[in-house]
Amino acid sequence: MLRLDPGNASLEGTRTKPLERVREKGSLSPAGVAWHLASTTMDALVYHGPGKRAWEKKPRPEIREATDAVVRITTSTICGTDLHILKGDVPSVTDGRILGHEGVGVVDDVGAAVSGVRTGDKVLISCITSCGKCDFCRKGMYSHCRGGGWILGNTIDGTQAEYVRIPHADTSLHRLPPDTDDEAMVMLSDILPTGFECGVQNGQVKPGDTVAIVGAGPIGLAALLTAQFYSPAEIVMIDLDENRLQVALSFGATKAVNSSDGKAVQKVMALTGGAGVDVAIEAVGIPATFDVCQEVLAPGGRLANVGVHGKPVELHLEKLWAHNIIVTTRLVDTVTTPMLLKLVQSGRLQPRKLVTHRFGLADSMKAYDTFGDAAKERALKVILKSA
Ligand code: ZN
Ligand code: ZN
Repeated sequence: MLRLDPGNASLEGTRTKPLERVREKGSLSPAGVAWHLASTTMDALVYHGPGKRAWEKKPRPEIREATDAVVRITTSTICGTDLHILKGDVPSVTDGRILGHEGVGVVDDVGAAVSGVRTGDKVLISCITSCGKCDFCRKGMYSHCRGGGWILGNTIDGTQAEYVRIPHADTSLHRLPPDTDDEAMVMLSDILPTGFECGVQNGQVKPGDTVAIVGAGPIGLAALLTAQFYSPAEIVMIDLDENRLQVALSFGATKAVNSSDGKAVQKVMALTGGAGVDVAIEAVGIPATFDVCQEVLAPGGRLANVGVHGKPVELHLEKLWAHNIIVTTRLVDTVTTPMLLKLVQSGRLQPRKLVTHRFGLADSMKAYDTFGDAAKERALKVILKSA
């Protein structure tokens, strides 16, 4: 469509809809064109309660607050968390919500108070929205921002759509050079900062450490890629899926342990000469994998939990108490995104290799089927691209 009028934001923050010139079948004016108001709808992947999702028309988002931006999505992706939502595990997500919290796009419109990005800028959308001003934001704990946190595709509409409204745009978007690789960049919305902050930073990975990562899905692999910044001596990857273990070895894991026989702990202890590991990163979120982490730690070890747990785990303090063990939890803050961006731009970090499948945004339903059957489809990250 040819946009003839870029539209004006008035001082009151209201907006005049731009006129668009569109071709219309069957109702052509003598000149062959018709004048219309700009489209007020868009297509989006919508949650309709446990097990139900649809690709359907939704109102196109508009600026509501002066600090908002509206972004036209060029690249999005599906997260394991989206599958949890579809199972009904995340009650804050209600019927009618557009899913998705990861994306790269182009700024389509900004509120009057936005100064860090402009219409036409290419941007990375952080999965964590932050005001930058509240007490938690001032501590760098954006995940607990009083006006943000993880809200996209949760309590407000998300990024698996043609357009998304981003609150607190100045502090929730990252400007990207126009020539950056969208597919690599979209891995920075969530999985790379999550693997790095919750796994590697909280686990205090150091040069020479032996690190065990339980779970070789996208988040575990993101921890694997970013743990290597610190030159650990060994990285032992643990998973049930042989394909994912092979991927992990190609991404820099030094050892792979298939846990499908239930003997992961014995195997890790054997690999470390009975010593155990310095860091155990839990990247699954179930009691069995948390238990593996507790049992393979050497004295002085750090257990960094990354997984999203829906059930209680048993903390074996009766064994851990005298072993100087640190157990950490964290919701990603995305405070390291600017640093990770530099490493991707320099080529030092190559997250594009996490991408296994690509779909058009309009094929999101099919993309969910593929991602939902990840083992059979050998899927890691599934890219959704706008036409
Ligand atoms: Zn996610
Ligand atoms: Zn805040």
